[in-house]
Amino acid sequence: MRVHSRCSYCKARISHYTIYDTRAEYDMRKGTKFINIQCKKCLNTDDYHLNDLRAVRSPFFGLVFAVSITAGLVGTFLLSYYTETSTQQWTALAMFAGVPFVATSILFRQNIMKVNAFNQIFLSE
Ligand SMILES: [Zn+2]
Repeated sequence: MRVHSRCSYCKARISHYTIYDTRAEYDMRKGTKFINIQCKKCLNTDDYHLNDLRAVRSPFFGLVFAVSITAGLVGTFLLSYYTETSTQQWTALAMFAGVPFVATSILFRQNIMKVNAFNQIFLSE
């Protein structure tokens, strides 16, 4: 999950990738409440407190979601030429649009929930 903050020197947006889902988990596993991040703009390195970092939603899942829906609809449209009954068309729609829709919407939702969990739970000093 990607976390963001502002560089303490130049105020540029800085980001860091962490495998931990919450601030508490990071603190527990790493034994520190700080993450050392180097700014890509001014190249200064500083320690950022976990409470000052915010998780952001991955644009990846939104993208996959949009692509899979488009692919599903196109697939269904193309298949409708080769299918004769409406039952077959509904089956094709379910396979090409329904399955990716459900799968990616689950991933999308999980990502939002993880991001919310990270942002809502702060560490006590
Ligand atoms: Zn900077």
